[in-house]
Amino acid sequence: MKEEDIPKVVEMLMAGGKMLAVHCGNCLSPLFEYQGKVVCPVCGGKTKALKAEARPPSLDKVRETLLAKINSLTEQLAKETDHAKTLELLDRIKSALEVLERLKEG
Ligand SMILES: [Zn+2]
Repeated sequence: MKEEDIPKVVEMLMAGGKMLAVHCGNCLSPLFEYQGKVVCPVCGGKTKALKAEARPPSLDKVRETLLAKINSLTEQLAKETDHAKTLELLDRIKSALEVLERLKEG
């Protein structure tokens, strides 16, 4: 998995995608179950699954990116004065934290 693809994986996690134990045959990104379909966050819908033992996903990098994202959202939150945007930011932080928790379990 390439470093520049990690934000896409994080976005997929935050959108509620479930990380699967298989990888994309194309880019080696972890595949996701999203809205009832298996998708690659990097290549989109067209992908072939690889077996899990091929290569473990670099979850540390995903965690790191997620933490950076939470930090930047928190900074935005501190400056935000608009009520609706504040709520939106809080919601995004909450889903990022939930994703982080799920990664710990996996
Ligand atoms: Zn892919």
